[in-house]
Amino acid sequence: MLNIVLFGPPGAGKGTQAEKLISKYNLVHLSTGDIFRSNIKGKTELGNLAKSYMDKGELVPDSVTIQMLEKEVSANPTAKGFIFDGFPRTTHQAKALDEFLDSISTEVSLMLALEVPKEELIERLLLRGKESQRADDQDKSIIENRIRVYLEQTAIVASYYQSQGKHKSVNGQGSIGEITERLFQVID
Ligand code: ADP
Repeated sequence: MLNIVLFGPPGAGKGTQAEKLISKYNLVHLSTGDIFRSNIKGKTELGNLAKSYMDKGELVPDSVTIQMLEKEVSANPTAKGFIFDGFPRTTHQAKALDEFLDSISTEVSLMLALEVPKEELIERLLLRGKESQRADDQDKSIIENRIRVYLEQTAIVASYYQSQGKHKSVNGQGSIGEITERLFQVID
């Protein structure tokens, strides 16, 4: 299996690039943000809970997020591999993912980290807020909180994969096509 963790701060382009990778490598795309948003839309219990955190730009609790992710992986038993987008966001989530994948006799193959400077992230997210309905992209203080949460809780996950020799840094600035090519090169 080819299991890729697509990593980077909010606005780094994970969702956009994940779409390119799934079609080339025939993988299943699991975006925890998208799954939470579809639960919010469907007004499920999980959606209501997630919304209370997402509206503030905070992380949804690990226990809930991990359980949801494991359920999604299990729902795709014939997958050739997965792109994990927006997960893991804490070291606890990264360890849980390793243990879970081990229990189904597979592992994370590679972690691709998209690098984009903070000023560009804020610009991109505000632009996305204008074009989409995402509430968490409309407000500069929520965006700044998400970046702060990223720096405080998520950035450290890179060293978890570094210590396993699985971390690859990729320049996330340039055209969408240029960035896709860089990712293809690292994977191939
Ligand atoms: P972005 O990368 O632009 O922040 P996402 O769609 O990945 O967008 O995430 C939106 C929100 O969903 C996050 O701010 C957080 O509240 C919640 N979320 C997504 N993934 C996770 C996760 N792995 N753990 C905890 N919360 C998460």
